Amino acid sequence: MAENTSYFTAAEQVLMNNTTVTTNDTKNRNSYTTTDKLYALAADDYRSSTIKAGSYNSTVLATSNYWNSGTTFWLRSPNVDIAYLALLTSPGYWVNRYEVYYGGAVQPASNLNLSSVLFASAATAASSDTAVAKTIASGAAMTLRLDGTGKDIGTVTYNTTTGDIKVVKGSTSQPVSLVVQGNDGTNDWYYSKQIAGLETVNASDIKSALSLTSDIDLSACKIWLEITEDNVSYAVNAEKEIERHVHCVCGTSGCKLSGNTHRDVTWSPVSDLNEITKPGNYYLTQDIEMKETWEPNAGVVLCLNGHSISNTYKDNLRPNDEKATIQIISGKFTLTDCSRDENGQNKGSVTHANGSLGTGVTFFNTDTKFDMYGGNIRGNYAVDHRPRWNGAGYMCLHPDVILLCMAEAFPIIKVMGFRLSKEQPLP
Ligand SMILES: [Zn+2]
Ligand SMILES: [Zn+2]
Repeated sequence: MAENTSYFTAAEQVLMNNTTVTTNDTKNRNSYTTTDKLYALAADDYRSSTIKAGSYNSTVLATSNYWNSGTTFWLRSPNVDIAYLALLTSPGYWVNRYEVYYGGAVQPASNLNLSSVLFASAATAASSDTAVAKTIASGAAMTLRLDGTGKDIGTVTYNTTTGDIKVVKGSTSQPVSLVVQGNDGTNDWYYSKQIAGLETVNASDIKSALSLTSDIDLSACKIWLEITEDNVSYAVNAEKEIERHVHCVCGTSGCKLSGNTHRDVTWSPVSDLNEITKPGNYYLTQDIEMKETWEPNAGVVLCLNGHSISNTYKDNLRPNDEKATIQIISGKFTLTDCSRDENGQNKGSVTHANGSLGTGVTFFNTDTKFDMYGGNIRGNYAVDHRPRWNGAGYMCLHPDVILLCMAEAFPIIKVMGFRLSKEQPLP
C-alpha cells in the first residue's frame, strides 16, 4: 500500500521513512519484526487508555488527543488471554478487543521525514486568480509545506508601511498561489489567489475581502507563495522589503540643485538618538522624547522624517531650569526633514514638551556649525536668558551660522524665534 502510487504519490513516498516494529505473538511465544513505511499501532492490553507508536512503542498517544472520535481501527497487538481476539481502538473509550475475522478499518501510522518541511498550515491555496478569503475553523487539518527553494516558484516581498505585497511569479510550469494567513484577534483567516506574473496585493484588499474592521499588520501575518507538485505543496516565504530611505540632504528626492552637498544619499534608521554614535546620515523612525539635551557627534546629518524630538525635562522645585533639546558641542550638525504635510510643509520638529523649558537648538563654541535644510524648531521656551528673549527656537553665538543658513536657505525652513547672535540682539 505504501508503495502504491494510487495511495501515495512518488513525492509523498519520499517523505515517508521506514519504521521497524516488533510484534509479540503471544500464542506462539515468539516475536517478529517488520519494516515498512506504514505500520499498525500497538497497545499493551485490553482496556489500555493509550496506544503506542514508534519502533520501540516509545511514542504514547493518549485517547483524548489522538482517537477521541472517529472510526474504530485495528491495532497490531494480539489479545493476551483469548487466542482469537486482537486489540482495536474504541474511540473516546479505551482499547477494545474483537474477533480477528471482524472487518474493521485500518489506520496505519508513518514516520514522516520533516527535514524539508518549512511549516504546516490549514490555509488552502486558491485554485484560480479569483481571491479566496476565509476564516480557518479551529482544529482544521493542516497541510505540510515543503521548502520550495529550487522550484523557481517566484518571490514575494511585503512592505509594512505601504501594506503592499509584491509577487513576482517564477518560471515554474505549475500555477503559483499567493497565500496570506493572519489572525483578527479571534479567528485565524487566510487570503489566497493565483498569480499570473507580476502582481501587487495591498493589505487593504485583504481587509475588505475578509470584511475585517481593523487594519492588517503584515509583519504579524504569514505570507508565502506555493505550488503543488505530485500532491505535495512547496512554498517560499515572503521577505520583508528593504525599506530604503533615500533622498538629498535638502529633503527632496532626485534633487536637481548643484553643489557638493546635493545628491541622493541613503539614510540609516534610528528609533533612539543614542543609536547615533558616529558621523553619517540618519532618519528617525519614531518621535523622540527625552529629559536630557542631545549632543550630536560632529558630522551627524539627521532627517526628522516627520517626527519630533521633544525635551520633556521639568523640575517642579526649580521651575525656571531649562535644558536645550539639541546642543552642538563640536563640529557640524545638519538637520533636515523629507516629510511634507498637505500644504507641502515639513512635519518634523525640534521642540519642548508642554511646561518644559529650553532652547530648541543651541551651541556656544565658535568652531561649531549648524546647517538646517528642513524641519521646524518650534514650541521652545527659554525664560532664563538675560536679556530675556521671546521665543528660543534657535540660538547661536557666532556669525558663521548666519552665512550657512542663508546660503542654503530654502522656503521650507521654518525657524521660530530665530536667534542670530549675541552681537545682533533682536529688537
Ligand atoms: Zn538637494
Ligand atoms: Zn528623510
